[in-house]
Amino acid sequence: MIAPDLETAIDTLQELVEAARQITPFTGAGISTECGIPDFRSPGGLWTKTRPIQFEDFLASQEMRNESWRRRFAMEQYFAAARPGRGHLALASLHRAGKAPGVITQNIDNLHQSSGIPGERVVELHGNNTYAVCLDCAKRYELSWVKMQFTDRGERAPDCIDCGGHIKTATISFGQSMPEREMRRAEQMTLDCDLFLVIGSSLVVWPAAGFPLMAKRNGAKLAIINREATEFDEIADLVVREDIGTVLSPFVAH
Ligand SMILES: [Zn+2]
Repeated sequence: MIAPDLETAIDTLQELVEAARQITPFTGAGISTECGIPDFRSPGGLWTKTRPIQFEDFLASQEMRNESWRRRFAMEQYFAAARPGRGHLALASLHRAGKAPGVITQNIDNLHQSSGIPGERVVELHGNNTYAVCLDCAKRYELSWVKMQFTDRGERAPDCIDCGGHIKTATISFGQSMPEREMRRAEQMTLDCDLFLVIGSSLVVWPAAGFPLMAKRNGAKLAIINREATEFDEIADLVVREDIGTVLSPFVAH
């Protein structure tokens, strides 16, 4: 059912949330746009203007690693200033109420953690770009450290001080394989819930597309809150095409 208006959308969602024993939210870029994080994949988005750097190119070339870090620091104005939006706060409230033990996200902006959901309860399918890791030994690096090295060395990306491996933001790049542990956890959370709640994802990028179907086949209800239509609207119990923050603000506990 596609909600005909905002009031029906909120009422129906409230009924689904109240009836649910366990909710698994699945979030994409749309939940963070009101926080000033651009949707890189959207029409006119950054990735339609600048080709993303493929993982193999990052590995192969110092110049690509330099360019990758140059781009990351250029985006710092968006990421450093971003605060959780109404959608994040609503999910944090559901988490505290014991309704949503964890969140699956395609986002790399750390905003679910900033909203108060513990890091170990956030399954990040595409990683996190608010810190960096060594690709060889997994040592964690803070961006402030990387930036200092980068600047001091004339915009040259630094390597790991322990093992000499390449240092990259903790994101999953194009061409990089999906994180197995996160995929398994996301599947388990999908099977454990009786309400699968998609927020701000068009569900086109694999593996996102697999989860709503898995939940539905397992007997869960499916609700989709997204500006644009998705391939799964037909099997959803509720489809909402209104503004995400407006729909979810009644779920923020005060
Ligand atoms: Zn290392």
